[in-house]
Amino acid sequence: MEEQKDVIIIGAGLAGLTAAYELKKAGRSVQVLEARDRVGGRTMEGKLLDRSFDLGGQWVGPTQTRIMGMIKELDLTTFPQHSEGYQLVEMHGKLSKYKGVIPKLPILALLSADRAIKKINRLAQSLASEPWKDKRAEALDTITAEHWIQGVPTKIAREMIRIAIRAIFSGESSEISFLYFLNYIQGAGSFELLADVEGAAQQDRVLGGAFQIARRMADRVGDENISLSSPVRSIEQNESEVLVRTDGGEYRGKYCIVALSPNLTTSIHFSPAPLERLSLARRMPMGSVTKAIVAYDTPFWRRSDMAGMAISDAGPFGPVFDACLPDDSRGYLVGFLEGEEGRRYAMATEQERKQAIVQTLVRFFGPQAANPIGYVEKNWTMDEWSAGCYTGLMIPGTMLHYGKYLREPAGRIHWAGTETAERWMGYFDGAVESGQRTRDEIQSRFQ
Ligand SMILES: Cc1cc2nc3c(=O)[nH]c(=O)nc-3n(C[C@H](O)[C@H](O)[C@H](O)COP(=O)(O)OP(=O)(O)OC[C@H]3O[C@@H](n4cnc5c(N)ncnc54)[C@H](O)[C@@H]3O)c2cc1C
Repeated sequence: MEEQKDVIIIGAGLAGLTAAYELKKAGRSVQVLEARDRVGGRTMEGKLLDRSFDLGGQWVGPTQTRIMGMIKELDLTTFPQHSEGYQLVEMHGKLSKYKGVIPKLPILALLSADRAIKKINRLAQSLASEPWKDKRAEALDTITAEHWIQGVPTKIAREMIRIAIRAIFSGESSEISFLYFLNYIQGAGSFELLADVEGAAQQDRVLGGAFQIARRMADRVGDENISLSSPVRSIEQNESEVLVRTDGGEYRGKYCIVALSPNLTTSIHFSPAPLERLSLARRMPMGSVTKAIVAYDTPFWRRSDMAGMAISDAGPFGPVFDACLPDDSRGYLVGFLEGEEGRRYAMATEQERKQAIVQTLVRFFGPQAANPIGYVEKNWTMDEWSAGCYTGLMIPGTMLHYGKYLREPAGRIHWAGTETAERWMGYFDGAVESGQRTRDEIQSRFQ
C-alpha cells in the first residue's frame, strides 16, 4: 500500500494531467494512474515516413482560450491549417469545387441550410447554462437531432447538416439528442465555430504535434507521480479517504479525480456506487472514428490550387484536410472514417481501410492520389481505453434526467474529462477546463 496522497487522479489524458499539474503547482501531492503505457489518451503520436503526426486530436482554435493558454505555458507554438485554394463538396454523386465558405450548391439548398443553422445557433445561444433546467428541455431532449433536421426544407440542406454533425460528433444525427447537440454548440459558441477552419476549431495545428501537450504536462507532474500501465479496477471511499485499486497496487488519497470519458467509468467497481453518475455514464456511448494520414511525394493538389479539403455525402472517407508540414516538401492528407462508416470499417483490416480511403481520395483529387508513399491510421473505435471517439454522446432523455450529475461530486470523488466541460466539451479546451475546475473543487475542500 502506497502512502496517502492528497489526490489520486485516474487517467493521464489532458484532463487528468491538467488537474495533476495544477494541483501540484498549488502544493498538493498527487498520484496519476493511467491504464495505457503512455500519457495523452485521445492525443497520440503516429509515425509516418520519418515524421510525427497526430493520430488523435490535432486542431486548436482562437476562442479555445484554456488550451491556447496551456500551449503557451508549455512553450509550444501553433501554425495555421492550410485552407487556401478550392475546396471540394460531393453531393448526390456530383463533385464541385468552390472558394471561400459557401459551397457550390443549388441556391435554395444554401438558403435553407443558412436559415437552419441560424435557427440552431439561436436555440443554442438561448439555452440555460444548465440545459436540464431550460423550460424547453423536455421537448428538446425527447427528440434526436435527425428528428429536427427532417423539418429543414430541401434534401441537400438536410444532408449538409448531417455531414457536419458526422464530422463534429463522429456519430449520426439519428443517434444524438437534439438538446445535447444544442448544448455542444452552446459550449463552442456557434455551429460555425465548430465546423469552420478560419477563426474556428480547425484554425491551427501544434508545431511538432498536439501529442506533445500531454508529454510536457507529464514532465512537469514528474514520472514518480504517474503510474503507467495501471488500469484502475475499483474505487472505494469512506468518511476520511479514498482507496483506489489497480492490478499492481492500492493507492490511498484524501480525494480522487476520475478524468475519463463517462462511458469508461462504468468498467470501474465503485463502493458505494454513485448510482446517478453511473446511470448517466451508461447513456453516453462514444462516437466511432478511424483517423488516417496518407503521404505522397508532393502536395500535388496544391499545384491545381486545391486546398486539399473535401466533404462528401458518399463517404466513406471524410472530411479530408491538407496535413502538410511546414518543413517537409512531401504531401500529406488527413481524414476520418466517422459515424456509421467508422463502425462499418472498424472491423475491417487495415489494408481494407487503406484501400477504401485511397479510392475516396482518387475520386476527390484524381489519379495522382492512387499512389501514396506512406499510410498511418488509428482505429479509435476498437481501442480498449477509449472505446470510441471523439467524445461521449448523449442519447435522448440523458441530459434532461441525468445531466446534473455530469460534474456533481460523489462524496470524495470528483469528475473531470472533456465531456464534463461547460465550454468546448469534446475538445482539448474542454479537457483543460475540466482539469482546472476539479483543481478548484478540491482546493476548496482543503480550506
Ligand atoms: C481522432 C481524434 C481527433 C480529434 N480531434 C480533435 C481536435 O482536432 N481538436 C480537439 O480539441 N480535440 C480533438 N479530439 C478530442 C480530444 O482529443 C479529446 O477531447 C481530449 O483529448 C480528451 O481528453 P480527456 O483527458 O478528457 O480524455 P482522454 O484523453 O480519453 O483521457 C482519459 C485517460 O484515461 C485512461 N483510462 C481509461 N480507463 C482507465 C482506467 N480504468 N484506469 C486508468 N486509466 C484509464 C485512458 O487511457 C486515457 O489516457 C479528437 C479526438 C480524436 C480521437
